[in-house]
Amino acid sequence: MQTIVYQIKDAVYVNLTNRCPCACTFCLRTKAPGVYGSPSLWLEREPSAGEVQEALGAQDWTRFREVVFCGYGEPTERLDVLLEVAGSLKARDPSLRVRVNTNGLSDLVNGRPTAALFVGKVDCISISLNTDDPDEYLALCRPKFGPAAFPALLRFAREAAQAVPEVVLTVVGEPVTDLAKQTRCRALAESLGATLRVRPFENGTRLFPVP
Ligand code: SF4
Repeated sequence: MQTIVYQIKDAVYVNLTNRCPCACTFCLRTKAPGVYGSPSLWLEREPSAGEVQEALGAQDWTRFREVVFCGYGEPTERLDVLLEVAGSLKARDPSLRVRVNTNGLSDLVNGRPTAALFVGKVDCISISLNTDDPDEYLALCRPKFGPAAFPALLRFAREAAQAVPEVVLTVVGEPVTDLAKQTRCRALAESLGATLRVRPFENGTRLFPVP
């Protein structure tokens, strides 16, 4: 039995894949098989769009305010399935909030510009930024695309801000306590048309609040 959807607070999360082009030093996947009491998020097989829709259809929708494509992997590795499911959710209920949590490398993963594909299907794209420094980004996130990754992330963020109502860049780790870095990351986010969110440290079982 594999976990295609799971719940955190008032959101239902969709686990499309375990593939990811990064190997972040802070990745939760290296710490636990799941998050906040969820079953294991390691997939035996990637679910089809139909299987995801079936799993979502079995949920008690009175409990949820938001659907988040996240899971134990990079959701844009399965961009076609993500867009198909998100599109059908929004077609059924335009008021439902749909968010994608991503590393921002969709264009490199898919080999083409992709931000415009989210129009009308997604309300918020949350992109893991973590630093304003390209070299530090490489050391922290270890993307398989190498130095091409950081500029591609910034380009995707800028184009996504034109495509969907809300783009949030997130930072975790040092910028939480390094206020100068936090200020630089916020300025970078705002220059791209996004906002910045400082994420608490997480270990998959409890949240470490932002100081
Ligand atoms: S981008 Fe996300 S899933 Fe991929 S290695 Fe980094 S933290 Fe883990």
